[in-house]
Amino acid sequence: MKKRILLLAGGQSGEHEVSLMSARGVLAALPRDRFEVTPLVISRQGRWLPPSDTVRALEQGRAEGGGESLLKRVASVSGFDLVFPLLHGPNGEDGTVQGLLTLAGLPYVGSGVLGSAVSMDKAMTKSVLESAGIPQVPSRLATRKQWREQPEAVRDLAADLGLPLFVKPANMGSSVGISKVRSEMELDAALDLAFSLDRRVVLEAMTAGKPRELEVGILGNDAPLASPVGELRFDADFYDYQTKYTEGRASMHIPADLPKAVAEQVRDLALQAFRALDCAGLARVDFFYLEDSGELYLNEVNTMPGFTPTSMYPKLWEAAGWSYSALVTRLVELGLEER
Ligand code: ADP
Ligand code: MG
Ligand code: MG
Repeated sequence: MKKRILLLAGGQSGEHEVSLMSARGVLAALPRDRFEVTPLVISRQGRWLPPSDTVRALEQGRAEGGGESLLKRVASVSGFDLVFPLLHGPNGEDGTVQGLLTLAGLPYVGSGVLGSAVSMDKAMTKSVLESAGIPQVPSRLATRKQWREQPEAVRDLAADLGLPLFVKPANMGSSVGISKVRSEMELDAALDLAFSLDRRVVLEAMTAGKPRELEVGILGNDAPLASPVGELRFDADFYDYQTKYTEGRASMHIPADLPKAVAEQVRDLALQAFRALDCAGLARVDFFYLEDSGELYLNEVNTMPGFTPTSMYPKLWEAAGWSYSALVTRLVELGLEER
């Protein structure tokens, strides 16, 4: 019998459009002789579109308005064997939707509540990875309350790290709300921006010079595999939102031109991080590499990475011999596995 799959896309985060593009790819790639796929689009306002509007939203790559609330709708969703929550960022990749699906008794693709929530929060990720002994750049956590009530204490955290430094909302993606602070004068504005988006903000020392940015894909549940290592190259000070989403600003190099030992170390650290964070199904693990000194730092773990046919994650697996369609099928199988 064909497995019935509910494909969730869109959502309230800054990565709404990316999610819809990814969903178009997945929808086209799931073999129809094995799966019956129903797409369901969540609008920017967090409402679920009626099926009649869903196809149009996927075509247009944008969804507004919507009808029922998420909670009401999921209670009435029945008869699916699996959910593919192809959602990025807050209220999608952060354990919230995963919790809802867990409560509804529906298996799903990707990490569970714990792995999703911890990996989404950059500060929590750092704590877990630190106890696993994985190298990271020095960082500090500040809360919105601290910034309101003890701004000097927060500025002191920044002073500990030195300049330049990065200020990041803890739960975000696509570089939204991230600033590179080059002078003391820029610090307050950077903190105001990050705290306008999140209650928790990470201050992070910049690597000693512009790093090379390496990414590796992980696939599996209890016996995960690591893909070849890829590299992102771009012509900008850092990999900001504009650079990420403007056609032609960045290029992917797979496999990255690296000494074999470095590539092995990247793959090994990525697998360690995947396990330490209790991830499942898939993740893209990102690193900073300083060629001159050989320093390697884990930057972040994305539990639902961009998934269009030209995104880094599928491209990494393509280099390992997995077609996009085989990869999507494998993710569904992993989601159906008992964990
Ligand atoms: P996001 O989850 O939004 O992708 P990242 O933490 O990956 O946020 O930061 C976005 C980009 O900012 C990185 O890809 C990199 O170009 C730059 N960056 C972030 N932190 C540092 C750092 N500590 N040193 C150097 N560059 C950094
Ligand atoms: Mg990210
Ligand atoms: Mg990133």
